[in-house]
Amino acid sequence: MRRNSEELAKMRRAGSVVGEMHEVTRAAARPGTTTAALDAAAREVLKRRGAQSNFLHYGNPPFPAVICTSLNGMIVHGIPGPLVLEEGDILSIDCGAIIEGYHGDAAFTMAIGEVSAEARRLIEVTEASLFAGIDQMTVGNRLHEIGRAVQTVAEAAGFSVVREYVGHAIGTAMHEEPQVPNYWPGSPGPTLKSGMVFAVEPMVNAGRPETRMLDDHWSVVTADGSLSAHFEHTIAITEDGPEIFTVP
Ligand code: MG
Ligand code: MG
Repeated sequence: MRRNSEELAKMRRAGSVVGEMHEVTRAAARPGTTTAALDAAAREVLKRRGAQSNFLHYGNPPFPAVICTSLNGMIVHGIPGPLVLEEGDILSIDCGAIIEGYHGDAAFTMAIGEVSAEARRLIEVTEASLFAGIDQMTVGNRLHEIGRAVQTVAEAAGFSVVREYVGHAIGTAMHEEPQVPNYWPGSPGPTLKSGMVFAVEPMVNAGRPETRMLDDHWSVVTADGSLSAHFEHTIAITEDGPEIFTVP
């Protein structure tokens, strides 16, 4: 689906709300803070900016928060609650917003205080893999080159990419077709055109790629208990190259 300039303007605004949610939650996340407090801070941003949440009440069972908070060996979709952050944790925060029916979606992983060298490297490599993917988002390139670039960066560092959860096109719904795998799926996929918008979101595990779902039917963890990191941006393909929408 290609978006016109008015649609892209709305998505840019939704993206800037998500960017501000990142700023606010990053600033609040420190040892002693609960993940519920981060969700509350993100709700404040949505309210002040006149945006709706695309996470709240999503899916079945309905997701109960406006952000996902996934700690250490949790890959994605952690539910904010009474969990208290501790020195040495790594925390992934995924945020979304809707402006005039158009969606933004982005995530980052951060260190809580001092973390191990491996945890720091996992965070750096996962973020680098996202930007390697974004570099592929040019008119005329093929969609699956994004995942090939992500996978190359992650695996060169000795890490693995999750297969069961992937990026996605985004627009008037948070999750639109086509999917954006974080690995080479064996074919080049559709040709990228200006006006297409995708949420690219590598999930990189320090150990093996397999995942497991917890009993809350949301939280996804690494099957081997290893650490995991997650970075995501909502990005448009333009004639001038990729434009990242999810920045403040
Ligand atoms: Mg997300
Ligand atoms: Mg997403």
